[in-house]
Amino acid sequence: MKAKTAAVILIAISLAACSGKGLMITRDGATAYRIIVPDGPNAAAYYAASELQRYLLDVSGVSLSIIPESQAGRGTAIWLGPCRRVEKAGLLPAAGVLTGDGVMIKTAGRDLIILGDGGRGLLNGVYVFLERFLGCRFLAYNCTIAPKRAILKLPPIDYRYSPPFIYREVLAFDAWRWDFHVRQKLNGGNMPLVLPTPTSARTERVPGIVIFPFVHTFAAIAPTETYFSSHPEYFGLVKGKRQGGVVGGQLCLTNPTVLEMAKRKALEWIAQRPDLTTVDISQNDAYPGSSGACECEACAAIVREEGSQHGPVLRLVNAVADAVKERYPDKFVDTLAYDYTIIPPKITRPRDNVIIRLCHYGCCFHGIEGEELSANFQPAVEQWPKLARHVWVWHYGTNFWHYLAPNPNLDSLAKDIRFYARNGIDGLMMQADIQSPGGELAELRQYLAAQMMWDPSQDPIAIRSDFCRGYYGPAAGEALEYLALMDGWKDKITRHIPTNGWNPPDITPRDFVSNGLAILEHGRAKAAVNAVIKGRIEKLLLSLWYMRLAWPETYGLSMEEGRTLLAEFKRVVKTFAVTNRTEGPIGDMDGFLAEMESRYGLLP
Ligand SMILES: [Zn+2]
Ligand SMILES: [Zn+2]
Repeated sequence: MKAKTAAVILIAISLAACSGKGLMITRDGATAYRIIVPDGPNAAAYYAASELQRYLLDVSGVSLSIIPESQAGRGTAIWLGPCRRVEKAGLLPAAGVLTGDGVMIKTAGRDLIILGDGGRGLLNGVYVFLERFLGCRFLAYNCTIAPKRAILKLPPIDYRYSPPFIYREVLAFDAWRWDFHVRQKLNGGNMPLVLPTPTSARTERVPGIVIFPFVHTFAAIAPTETYFSSHPEYFGLVKGKRQGGVVGGQLCLTNPTVLEMAKRKALEWIAQRPDLTTVDISQNDAYPGSSGACECEACAAIVREEGSQHGPVLRLVNAVADAVKERYPDKFVDTLAYDYTIIPPKITRPRDNVIIRLCHYGCCFHGIEGEELSANFQPAVEQWPKLARHVWVWHYGTNFWHYLAPNPNLDSLAKDIRFYARNGIDGLMMQADIQSPGGELAELRQYLAAQMMWDPSQDPIAIRSDFCRGYYGPAAGEALEYLALMDGWKDKITRHIPTNGWNPPDITPRDFVSNGLAILEHGRAKAAVNAVIKGRIEKLLLSLWYMRLAWPETYGLSMEEGRTLLAEFKRVVKTFAVTNRTEGPIGDMDGFLAEMESRYGLLP
């Protein structure tokens, strides 16, 4: 009876392989397929091919060879990129309308074809194929899930997708490595510009979107130390006095020399960094309530006319963009709509080669829509895309004062990403804990953000559970239980706290910490035999240990318990090289450890 069943199954398989419906890519360690790339040098196609080869081997145990088209001969294949045969099949026009590194995956006869919008699109095509059709998951730089298959058979596929955000970037330490960044279909290339001490050499095989200089460039166009004494008129007039400075000092944007300096600097920067896609001409940072915006007669007249402080900024940026377009028609100029310039001007419209970078302002826990703190920001998100061709959002996703403190924002993060996509925002960067690993839920938060940036229609709860199952393995149940506990807490938060940071004990209840500890300790016990998973659970525990150590009275920690807990905290911090507890200077964790050692009487 058994033999008969096996025979029936074999017949069924061979019939299916011959029927033309679906592709038998590998079976029992053998394959008739090769990976074929276009002839000639093509870094993206070769890198995409090597990634496909690597993960197909993981899944099936079979290594497919990579062959340039001219040496391909006959036979079945996976075709990557614009090979002549793909062109002859008439598939390139359909791929030509993809945007934002979008992807096209199609079976044709017994071949599989993967195409994309440019080099990044082709790479994304491979990753989407692996995720969507093979069940692979790229969860963290040190955690890829590739489910094994004895038989790798594909159904007929005709899949096309272009993401709503053409720029996708997560500024988080755990998204830093280029290879992992690309696997998540992110395309920003700005981490080296914002991270003061890069942890690895930049190995970009396929360029992404590079904004250079990264931000706040008024200070570089007319440095205070160079010009303030000789040309105070270049700087903002505030309450009758010119005001310089990198923070809280701006330029007089109607001064014709300032405009010429801005144009000159933009062209200089492009010449200096030919790989940049976007040159930044943007306001300096501002102190709350003290922007430094120029109040001279000419600047003030534009502000009145435009009903917005962005008026003088945009007029200057448009003029710079015209100068850039003459010499570099493929480059963009970006500028901030941030703090005092968030409201769009009434009259002036950004040029087509201008990108508005709108900076998030809202409540950390409840998201943007209908939230009282977003009274200005929500309409700005709704209005800017109606006026500008490109509007990108700079979103804040962590507690910058306490990277380690519990942060119940996963729900609002996903909601906000959907809100941006719905309103036509076409680029998104989330800034989180950049300087150091070990931030609270850092790996999950950056994975969730990257997934939602690629396709905001996904179910964020399914993404979370996918992540926890893969990343926490035997302790996934506890990790998910902990997230559910956090959601329950979030639902009860009535305070609205603006993006930036907060004092953790102001919102974190004692029972959240104690219940969280009980759940995660249970998870740690389950993972006891697996050092990797145990370490990941300990990284989650850091967050709750941090609360107890830093606020012992609130969270009920005695001196004696503190000594034991501090030793454990320190061990995990050192194991994972957690250098930072705030968005401060690199290494500020040392100061915290010293403070705690002193508090708990552990000074050497
Ligand atoms: Zn002025
Ligand atoms: Zn709120």
